Amino acid sequence: MTVLVTGGAGYIGSHTCLELLKEGHKVVVADNLCNASAKSLERVSRLAGGEEIPFVNCDLRDEEQLEALFQRWSIDCVIHFAGLKAVGESVAKPLAYYDNNLNSTITLCRVMERHGVKKIVFSSSATVYSGDNQMPLSEQSKTGSCTNPYGWTKFMCEQILRDLAKADPDWTVVLLRYFNPVGAHESGLIGEDPKGVPNNLMPFISQTAIGRRSCLSVFGNDYDTHDGTGVRDYIHVVDLARGHVAALDFLMKEKGEGVFNLGTGVGYSVLDMVHAFERANGVPVPYQIVDRRPGDLATVYSTPEKSRRELGWEATHSLEDMCRDSWNWQSKNPQGYESEE
Ligand code: NAD
Ligand code: UDP
Repeated sequence: MTVLVTGGAGYIGSHTCLELLKEGHKVVVADNLCNASAKSLERVSRLAGGEEIPFVNCDLRDEEQLEALFQRWSIDCVIHFAGLKAVGESVAKPLAYYDNNLNSTITLCRVMERHGVKKIVFSSSATVYSGDNQMPLSEQSKTGSCTNPYGWTKFMCEQILRDLAKADPDWTVVLLRYFNPVGAHESGLIGEDPKGVPNNLMPFISQTAIGRRSCLSVFGNDYDTHDGTGVRDYIHVVDLARGHVAALDFLMKEKGEGVFNLGTGVGYSVLDMVHAFERANGVPVPYQIVDRRPGDLATVYSTPEKSRRELGWEATHSLEDMCRDSWNWQSKNPQGYESEE
C-alpha cells in the first residue's frame, strides 16, 4: 500500500514511516519542515535498508502542490500528522494555530476527495478530553472544554473528519488520541528534536541530563497523587508508531469512523520519570520544585482496552525502555539533527 504521511519528517511521523516501511508499505512524505529536519528521513531511509522515501516540501494548505502530489503518486490512504503542537504558543498565537491545523486538514481532505482517496488516520490527542472526567479515560469519556487553542484544533479536526464520514459512507476516518509520546528508536538515529526550550517533560529531562539545561523545573508537588507531582500516561514512540500500522488494517477493512486511545494505561508521576531516567542511564537529573503550571491536571491516563480489542495493538515497551532510548538519542545527538554525525 502507498501511504501519504503528512508531517512525516517530524518526531512521531519519522518513527511511523520506519514502521510502515518495515511492514512493506510504500511511503510518500509531505512536510513543510517548519518543525523538523529532512535529515530525519535520510536516517529513516538508512534504517530501512536504503528504501527510498519520496519527499515533497510543501505546506498542506497549498492546494496546488497537494494536487500535484496526488497526481504524481497513486496514494491509497493518508496518515495526517502535520500540525503545530505547542500548547503555550497556541495560547499566544491562536490564529496561526487555527489557520495551520484546520486549513491543512480541510485542504488535504478536499484534495483526497477529488482523487477518490477516502481513508485517513488523524493524529489527535488526549487533550480533547474534558478536565472533569474520571480516570482512566476511555474513548467514551467526555470531550470538549479544551483549555487552549491547540486542544480546540484537535477537537475541531475530529469533528470535521467525523462529519465527512457521516456525509459520505465511502470515507473511513480513524482518530488516534495519543497520550504522552516519549523515547526514540533504539538505534539513536531518530528521535525528538524540539526547537528552543522544550515544553514537554521528557526532552527537558534529557536536555538537563546532557547539560543543555541546568535544572528541571517540576511544576508543583502538591497535587493529589502518590508523590504530589503530576501523573501522565507515557508511551514509547515506537509503540505509538506501531499503533498507526495497526490502524491501517482497520482503515482498509472498516467504513465510517473509529476512535482509539494510544496509551499504556499506566500513569507515572514527574518524579517517577526523573528517578527512572536516573536509574536507567546512571546520570543525575538536577531538579527543583516550582509552582504549578496553569491549566495542568493532576492525573491523566488512558484505558487502551478498545485499541487492544479492535486494533489488536498494545504497547510493549517499558518505562526503562523509554528512558534508555530517550537518553541514547540525546547523548548521540546532543544538538538534535544539527549535531555532527
Ligand atoms: P512534530 O512537530 O515533530 O511533527 C509535526 C510535523 O508537521 C513537523 O514535521 C512539521 O514540520 C509539520 N507541519 C506542521 N504544519 C505543517 C503544514 N502546514 N504543512 C506541512 N507540514 C506541516 O510533532 P509530533 O510530536 O511528531 O506530532 C505529530 C502530530 O501528533 C501532531 O499533529 C501533534 O499535534 C500530534 N500529537 C503529538 C503529541 C506529542 O506529545 N508529541 C501528543 C498528541 C498529539
Ligand atoms: N512537567 C514538569 N516540568 C516540565 C515539563 C512538564 O514538571 O518542564 C510536568 C507537567 O506539569 C505534567 C507532566 O510533566 O505534569 C507532563 O507534561 P508535558 O508537558 O510533557 O505533557 P502534558 O502536560 O501535555 O500531558
